[in-house]
Amino acid sequence: MAEQVRTGHFVVAVDGPSGSGKSTVSRRLATATGARYLDTGAMYRAITWAVLRSGVDPHDTPGVVKVASDVTLTVGTDPAAPHISADGVAVDVEIRSQEVTSAVSAVAAVPAVRERLVAEQRALIDQPAPIVVEGRDIGSVVAPDADLKVYLTASAEARAMRRSAETAADVAATAAALARRDRLDSTRAADPLQQSADAVELDTTGMGIDEVVDRLRELLVARTTR
Ligand code: C5P
Repeated sequence: MAEQVRTGHFVVAVDGPSGSGKSTVSRRLATATGARYLDTGAMYRAITWAVLRSGVDPHDTPGVVKVASDVTLTVGTDPAAPHISADGVAVDVEIRSQEVTSAVSAVAAVPAVRERLVAEQRALIDQPAPIVVEGRDIGSVVAPDADLKVYLTASAEARAMRRSAETAADVAATAAALARRDRLDSTRAADPLQQSADAVELDTTGMGIDEVVDRLRELLVARTTR
């Protein structure tokens, strides 16, 4: 019989660039291990949605800080039904729009936005049930003591193909948009996308989702049954 993942509290941090498969893999891993699932990108997207709704320019830092400090987010961590609301409005669909996707990196670069969201993410992580958390700075900043840190990568081409299959957008345009977002996310001063020295790097180019999830589950069992 396959070894079981420990049932107590554990934290898995999954970081990586856009389109590396973080969301699908993290959700599936959470389901397979009975853990909660936290999509921190959805939180940055929800703040961005609120900024755009208020008519504030995403590059207007004081304006962004004001909106971010006023909006209330409610985050659901059931991997079967992840959910996010801003000021009581469900924004699960809206946060995936082209407008939000184009503006989110500017909003996520604002240190006060990150401080607020990192504090909320840590409070969610600290609740007693285990959790799989995905983002850009989870292993490096949000949960540096995570039981397992994973850095997912995939070739630029594979990432663009995957994302364009999800959105039905042109592959070349998707590749350009992903490259732009990764550049912004990796070069910002506050908590940039980076691989922690103690993260396990997994290149998912050419790997199926089941294969990636199985590999991570094995790693988690090894880390949590020592
Ligand atoms: O993961 P997703 O692509 O939905 O994230 C949207 C954006 O949110 C990223 O491009 C990045 O700018 C920001 N983000 C972040 N830190 C995280 C998660 C997401 O800065 N932990």
